[in-house]
Amino acid sequence: MHYSEIFENAIGQLKSEKRYRVFANLERDTERFPNAIWRPDNGPARDVTIWCSNDYLGQGVHPEVTKAMATAAKTWGAGAGGTRNISGTSHPLVMLENELADLHHKEAALVFNSGWISNLAAISTIADLLPNCLILSDALNHNSMIEGVRRSSAERKIWRHNDVAHLEELLAAEPLERNKLIVFESLYSMDGDIAPIKEICDLAEKYNAMTYIDEVHAVAMYGERGAGVCERDGQMHRIDVIEATLAKGFGVVGGYIAASAAICDAVRSFAPSFIFSTALPPAVCMAALTSVKIAKERPELRMAHQRQSWLTKHALMRAGLPVMQNGSHIVPVFVGNAELCKAASDMLLERHNIYIQPINYPTVPRGAERLRITPTPLHGDAHITHLIEAMVDVWTTLGLPFAEASDIESPFANDADCTYPHQKQDCSYPQMKRAAE
Ligand SMILES: *Cc1c(COP(=O)(O)O)cnc(C)c1O
Repeated sequence: MHYSEIFENAIGQLKSEKRYRVFANLERDTERFPNAIWRPDNGPARDVTIWCSNDYLGQGVHPEVTKAMATAAKTWGAGAGGTRNISGTSHPLVMLENELADLHHKEAALVFNSGWISNLAAISTIADLLPNCLILSDALNHNSMIEGVRRSSAERKIWRHNDVAHLEELLAAEPLERNKLIVFESLYSMDGDIAPIKEICDLAEKYNAMTYIDEVHAVAMYGERGAGVCERDGQMHRIDVIEATLAKGFGVVGGYIAASAAICDAVRSFAPSFIFSTALPPAVCMAALTSVKIAKERPELRMAHQRQSWLTKHALMRAGLPVMQNGSHIVPVFVGNAELCKAASDMLLERHNIYIQPINYPTVPRGAERLRITPTPLHGDAHITHLIEAMVDVWTTLGLPFAEASDIESPFANDADCTYPHQKQDCSYPQMKRAAE
């Protein structure tokens, strides 16, 4: 009795702060993504459009990916059979690691059960193996990186977000020979802003520091072969450890690091969260492997993604919605109040069949609540038109402030040059053709 009250009070506190989270019960459909079936608790099931998926390219419903997964499950079974130390290293997992090492032009890669675990395991293990290490961590790093930093026994200093002058100040205050690990992200997923990677690598060289980057929101989507922003900016070879996920741009599940053979071997050998947890099943590895290969070979997918993101931003801004500016595919629309953010999300779903989960504290600071929109190449132009109409209606109904209508320039010199798969006759993305029909 006494115990349950404690939990109920904790939840009551969240509710009073208007940040109690409710999950939408959704049924995704490979044939019709980004459309899905929503099953509310009270009422009949309805067709909705998903606008907040981190399956940024729709790779999770790609027929080649799902086929690889199903075939592998038939061939090799449902589970991995154990931790990798006991019985869980499968041939598909080895192939996947080789593919990831090649993607990032590193000697090796090491796969984990999630991106979250990979950051926790790799950052803490690397920092603990470096004697007297100082970790320099960007102030807006993801929770999984913070957990990794905290788990290590190394000293840590936080540098102001993307502020290279502050980073330099902290680096310069240390003896050159001290071991240092700079930990940051390439693309910060809530604001969609991109780190000054080259400048950070310059500082790492100057002050004798190792670099560790999280490319979770960039792999599959940036760079010539989809290796991320470091590839796009020509900095990949200068980064010591690249961490990313197989769950977002690649649309499956799992996380990894790509680094030198010695670093991967050390993390493999010393990280408890790697050693004592059952490996990813072969079917997951084959799906991820297929997805990485597709992303590597088909830049038109990235082009389509950028095009639909740009078009969504552009159309929202023309309609006067307060889009938070950035140079990426993420489309954050500012609300600045937890209750209104939730109300806007509810109204989009109930009145307009549009699913956009509200982003509230602690994912973003209080007062910075927002709707975070993530267009995919499978969102056709008609989806975008529907979104704009719905957003304008919700903003008007709730009395949310509009911004001055503005434009952003197309990143494409000639929009007609931007052939995107769901408009191409000969496209190899059958589900996109369906979406456009
Ligand atoms: C989602 C996320 C992770 C965790 O990846 P998962 O594969 O979802 O566990 C790590 N870093 C960042 C920046 C993320 O947004």
